[in-house]
Amino acid sequence: VARSDSVRQTNLRAILRQLHLHGPASRSELVLRTGLTRSSVAAIVGELARAGTVIEEPAISDGSPGRPSPVVRADAGRNVVLALEVAVDFIAGALVGLGGVTHAADRIDRRRDRFSVESTVADLADLAARLLDPPVDLAGIGVAVAGLVKRPDNVVALAPNLGWCDVPLGALLGDALGLGIPIQLANEGDLAAVAETLRGAANGVDDVLLLSGEVGVGGGVVSGGRSLIGSAGFAGEIGHVTVNPGGRRCRCGSTGCWETEVGEGSLLRRAKRRSDSGRRGIDGVLAAAADGESVALAALRDEAHWLAVGLGGMLNVLNPQLVVFGGFFGRIHPFVIDDLRRELPRWGLAATTAGVDIVPSALGLDGPLIGAAELAFEPLLGHPA
Ligand SMILES: [Zn+2]
Repeated sequence: VARSDSVRQTNLRAILRQLHLHGPASRSELVLRTGLTRSSVAAIVGELARAGTVIEEPAISDGSPGRPSPVVRADAGRNVVLALEVAVDFIAGALVGLGGVTHAADRIDRRRDRFSVESTVADLADLAARLLDPPVDLAGIGVAVAGLVKRPDNVVALAPNLGWCDVPLGALLGDALGLGIPIQLANEGDLAAVAETLRGAANGVDDVLLLSGEVGVGGGVVSGGRSLIGSAGFAGEIGHVTVNPGGRRCRCGSTGCWETEVGEGSLLRRAKRRSDSGRRGIDGVLAAAADGESVALAALRDEAHWLAVGLGGMLNVLNPQLVVFGGFFGRIHPFVIDDLRRELPRWGLAATTAGVDIVPSALGLDGPLIGAAELAFEPLLGHPA
């Protein structure tokens, strides 16, 4: 009995995950996609429908002979999570239904005087209250944070670009929201990497390195189909690997971190723009480069050089099949990819650099938020009945 029950659970999870990630399907399509028998699929769909996670809708006949097969879909209206993101220059939130349906979303730019823990928690609570009006029963809450997150205890151990150290953000947010719903925090790069493998540029790829950057530089690694988070959740801090010991001081306290050579601020500085001009400044550099401005072109060549220096070592360690450029790296991708590809073999082994594809992110700015929603769905997807 125990064995057949665990088979049943595995099959329930397989069907629900299919519908969640790949959209509505007829029972016959589910048979093809999962390899389960027709009668198993019928029993599982029935059980999921009774549990309220899927709905079956009568199919519209396409005119071909035979009885049309009903369509099974994840019930996005009844199974909803709240995804939140704490980035450096904005906060964001979304209500996401099972199947990946976004019911509502908002992103708010913020100034430096709103970086304190108290202001951030208050702003997130306001944002959540607006998204949850009218009220919705939540299945979970996931939060992406631009910092090092100690996973089991929901503590932000360090967020250099926010000036945070050992902040119990999960507990503070739980009090401020007052919903009594479990909250899970994770690093935004880790979540964006998972999101790209589930719903983005790395869909279905098991070995992926995501490089992401806005103000800081971060990343995430999926290795063998699993998120690589390390013993406490800190793995993937690729922005703080030293690439230039004679370089500039980093906000983390070290010197010559990769972030200080390839981050938004250094590209702006090399292009002789204000280093705090952010997204608009970068767009200006790219427009100037497209017009052939030599200062902008030289800055982008330097950027490609330092990208190659750091990436070469990471490819040697991780051997990904695919590198995804997220955040501002996605926007500069077309301007740096040729120089980067040319220089990469100087810094990485031929075996690891030759086979790797380097592509811009498909989810863009939404990656961390989509990953946070997936994190919040994990308990439901793990125990569908
Ligand atoms: Zn650093």
